[in-house]
Amino acid sequence: MITIKGKSVFGGVSIGKIMFYKRNDKVIKREHVDNTSAEVERFQDAKKIAIEQLKELYNKAIADVGEANAAIFEIHQMMLDDLDYIESIENIILTQEVNAEYAVATTADNFAQMFSSMDDAYMQGRAADVKDVSERVLNILSGGSNTSMKTDEPVIIAADDLAPSETVQLDKEKVLGFATMYGSASSHTAILARTMNIPAVIGLGNELSEQFDGKEAVIDGFTGTIYIDPDDATIAVMKEKREKDIEQKRLLEELKGKENITKSGQKVHVYANIGNVSDVGLVLKNDAGGIGLFRSEFLYLESETFPTEEAQFQAYRQVAENMAGKRVIIRTLDIGADKQVDYFNLPKEENPALGYRAIRICLQQTDIFKTQLRALYRASAYGQIAIMFPMIISVDEVKKIKEMIEVVKAELDEAGIPYRKNIEIGIMIETPASVIMSRELAKEVDFFSVGTNDLTQYTLAIDRQNPKLEPFLDTHHPAILRMIKMAADNAHAEGKWIGICGELGADTELTEQFMAMGVDELSVSPALVLPLRKKIRECE
Ligand code: PEP
Ligand code: MG
Repeated sequence: MITIKGKSVFGGVSIGKIMFYKRNDKVIKREHVDNTSAEVERFQDAKKIAIEQLKELYNKAIADVGEANAAIFEIHQMMLDDLDYIESIENIILTQEVNAEYAVATTADNFAQMFSSMDDAYMQGRAADVKDVSERVLNILSGGSNTSMKTDEPVIIAADDLAPSETVQLDKEKVLGFATMYGSASSHTAILARTMNIPAVIGLGNELSEQFDGKEAVIDGFTGTIYIDPDDATIAVMKEKREKDIEQKRLLEELKGKENITKSGQKVHVYANIGNVSDVGLVLKNDAGGIGLFRSEFLYLESETFPTEEAQFQAYRQVAENMAGKRVIIRTLDIGADKQVDYFNLPKEENPALGYRAIRICLQQTDIFKTQLRALYRASAYGQIAIMFPMIISVDEVKKIKEMIEVVKAELDEAGIPYRKNIEIGIMIETPASVIMSRELAKEVDFFSVGTNDLTQYTLAIDRQNPKLEPFLDTHHPAILRMIKMAADNAHAEGKWIGICGELGADTELTEQFMAMGVDELSVSPALVLPLRKKIRECE
């Protein structure tokens, strides 16, 4: 048994096989080859391996999910043997004298396009399949293992690190836990693990090596430990720990429907943070009073291109409707820094965290911003949507935003499109400038929400992405706590309310202090709502 210690991101115990996350190099290069017949042979060999893999998958699927559901793997095998498909690939290799990867990728694109343009819905569905099988062949050609993310049983995902865009694309049903070599506790990947309610350990270092791919492992998310090839005694202890955790969660269940109230009768809203429409189920399951932060940029991260107004409207509307009149605070696009989206073509920057990001992009690329505002205002007719703006540093920015909102409202009025008239407008307090200016800013908005993740990095000058700096990071630094108090006092002086939506809001060692500051709302990962409620009810 090998034991590696890292940092805990989210508690819980998971037991299963490790799968190393394989990055498929999406950019397939066109390369000239002299020996085209050898290249055709390379393709044929890769195809054979792919078919073998699919046969195995088919047999396993029959046992696990029955014949009807397993049939897809048979269809995939047939596709690889399809004469048109093979002929196209071989022709490209032979006539253009190019590498097999390029020929497979080009054929996959052509066939997928052809399928999707057909009238028949069944044939349209085959576009995804031809891409899927081709990806399998490409993976084999590039020397990747057969796995990639194609797994039929839930696994523990291991990786050097995971980008937020990679994390959101994982099949959540199939992820038992995360274990990464690098990463920091306030990175977006860590935040996603918490939202997804998945035991996760980060910062395991180089000891976590790819040779563990396929091995049995246990993640102890409480202590930040991973055990590889665990012995029977460890498995028994961990199973017991898992049982206790389940029991603890059952006890928390009893807090459902209860108020977030201290012993002396002070109440606070406890809301949940989400990144995705599908997270709303967890919000309701954990009895959160609302959504305190919907990181809308994940809609952009999941998409291949700018999400349309209609697509965004549908997403916001669904969240608002599912929350049935409870407050849903949607934060406008906050990309840049660690949240990179290829199609934005953002320039490489020396200091991306201090760079062209969030509201700065929105105020310059106003078409993108207006599309989002229109979608938000349209969706507001279906629930209690509030809108919040990230990375604010000045009153001037808020005034510009409000001007844009007026334009959007006028357009909707003219088109006779309904929207909620009294939408609350708020800003994130996540820059030191916004804290210092909080009295003036409070006059302009309805609420503040403190983003302690960024406020901490900008105040302490500690990059939230850099695990090397963890020894210097004091998340309870008095500078941060004083800043929250200052923003709270200024909000209240102007009759406005203040919440905390950064990770610190869930830190139960600080709950008593936040209550003393008069914080009105705490927004945390869905799974932390009930533990926080428990703490609040124990506070004096
Ligand atoms: C924060 O900065 O605390 C915050 C909530 O926003 P994000 O973590 O998405 O940057
Ligand atoms: Mg932030």
